[in-house]
Amino acid sequence: MPGFVFDNSYARLPERFFARLNPTPVRAPALVRVNAPLAETLGLDPAALASPEGVAILAGNSIPPGAEPIAQAYSGHQFGGFSPQLGDGRAILLGEVVGRDGQRRDIQLKGSGPTPFSRRGDGRAALGPVLREYIVAEAMAALGIPTTRALAAVTTGETVQRETALPGAVLTRVAASHIRVGTFQYFAARGDLEAVRLLVDYCIERHYPQAAAAPNRALALLEAVVAAQADLVARWMLIGFIHGVMNTDNTTISGETIDYGPCAFMDAYDPAAVYSSIDYAGRYAYGNQAQVMQWNLARLAECLLPLLDENEEAALAAARQALTGFAPRFEDAWNSGLCRKIGLTTAEEADVALVQSLLDLMATQKADFTLTFRALCGAALGDDTAARALFSDPAGYDDWAARWRQRLEREEAAPEARAAALRAVNPLFIPRNHRVEAALNAAVSFNDYGPFETLLDVLSRPFEDQPGRESFSLPPEPEEIVQQTFC
Ligand code: AMP
Ligand code: MG
Ligand code: MG
Repeated sequence: MPGFVFDNSYARLPERFFARLNPTPVRAPALVRVNAPLAETLGLDPAALASPEGVAILAGNSIPPGAEPIAQAYSGHQFGGFSPQLGDGRAILLGEVVGRDGQRRDIQLKGSGPTPFSRRGDGRAALGPVLREYIVAEAMAALGIPTTRALAAVTTGETVQRETALPGAVLTRVAASHIRVGTFQYFAARGDLEAVRLLVDYCIERHYPQAAAAPNRALALLEAVVAAQADLVARWMLIGFIHGVMNTDNTTISGETIDYGPCAFMDAYDPAAVYSSIDYAGRYAYGNQAQVMQWNLARLAECLLPLLDENEEAALAAARQALTGFAPRFEDAWNSGLCRKIGLTTAEEADVALVQSLLDLMATQKADFTLTFRALCGAALGDDTAARALFSDPAGYDDWAARWRQRLEREEAAPEARAAALRAVNPLFIPRNHRVEAALNAAVSFNDYGPFETLLDVLSRPFEDQPGRESFSLPPEPEEIVQQTFC
C-alpha cells in the first residue's frame, strides 16, 4: 500500500461545503509518472504508488483506506462575471495528509469523473493538459514559487471528446488546500454568514495560525491573504510568468499558485503579453496581474464585510484599509526582487529607475526576459557578450551597463560573489511554451514520454548550468513560436 494516512479536516465541515462522492472508475489505468521526492515528503512509498494497486488509486478506481472523497463547492468571478455555482466539476479531494515536514496537504484527483458541480462538463481531463500542469507546477516549485504540486499522472485508457477525441488522464494534485476566494463567495452569495465565519476560522487554523489571536479574525485573515497574494504575484512577474486565468475561483487563500491552464512564460519581455486562447481582451496580461489580484482580493473583502464590523461604514473602512495594503506590499516585493535580479544588495533611491530603464530597453528591443537577467551573471564578471547579443541595438545595453557598473561600485560584494547571487535568482531554464508543447505532442501523438521526462529533469534544476542542455534555455525559433496556450 502507498501508505496514505488521512486526516480529513475539510470533510468534517458541514455537509453544505461539499458533495460526497467517489471518483468514477476508468477502463484501463496506466501510470505515466510518480513524483518520487514529493511522495517521500508526504510520507508515501513511491514504489507502491507506481504499483498496480497504487495506480488504481491514482486513477480513481480504488479508494484508499481513510479517504473521504468529496467535491468542494465554490463560486467565482470568471473574467469579471460572477458564476454563483462552480465547484469541483472534474476534481475529487481524496483527503488530507500530514507530511514528514509537518505540513497538511490536500490529495486531489483531477479528471476523476463528473460531480454535482460538473454543469455541462464531462468531469474528465485530457492527457495534454494533465502533462502541462505536471510540468509547469513542478517547474514553479523548483523556481521557489508557492504552488500546488503534481504527485502523479495516469492515463485512463479512455478518450475524452474535446474538438477531437483525446486520450484521457488523471492528475494527482497536492495543495496546501484548495480553498479559494470563490469558496468564500459561494457562501457569501447565499447569505450564509455562519458558513463564512466557519471558513474564516478554518483558514486561519490551517494557513495563518498567527492570526488566531487577532482581535478581528476576519480582518487578520484578509490582511494575511492580501500579503501572501501580493508577494505571489511579484514572484510570478519576476520570473516572467503569466497565469492566464486569474479568476477568483483560481485565487487561493493559501497564497499558492493554482490552475495551470492557459498559463505561459514570456520569451521576449512585453508587459502586454497574453497567451491564453480565451483571454480576448487581455484582462490577464502579464502587466495587469497585480491589478487583477487586487480586484480579486476586493471580492474576498466583500464576502467578509459583515464580519469586519457590525457597523457597515466601519466594515467598509476596514476592508479598504486592508486592500490598500496590497499595492505597497506588491511594489516592494517587485522592486526589491528586480534589484536583486541586477545584483544589488543595498538600496539607493535611483535603483528602481535603473532597473526600470533596463526593462524599458528590453521591451523596446524585445529582449528575452529570462536570458537578459541570466546574462548579467557573465556581465558581472566583465563579459558582456551574452547580454549584448540579446539586444538588436547593443549600444542601448552598453549605455545601461555603464550606469549599472557605476552603481555596482558602491556595492561591497566581490564580482564572484555577485555572479553567484545573480545565478541564484535569475533562472536559466523556464518551461518555455514551445518546449512544453513539443513534450506534450510527443507524448500525446507518439506515445513518446522521453521529451516530457527530459524537460522535467532540466526544469528541476532551473538555476544550474546544465552542460549539453543549453538548447533548453533558448527562446523559440520563428517557426517554433507558440502564440496561444489553452486550458
Ligand atoms: P477552470 O477554468 O479550470 O478554473 O475551471 C472552471 C470551472 O469549470 C471549475 O468549476 C471546473 O471544475 C469546471 N470544469 C472545467 N473543465 C471541466 C470538465 N471537463 N468537466 C466538468 N467541469 C469542468
Ligand atoms: Mg480552476
Ligand atoms: Mg483549469
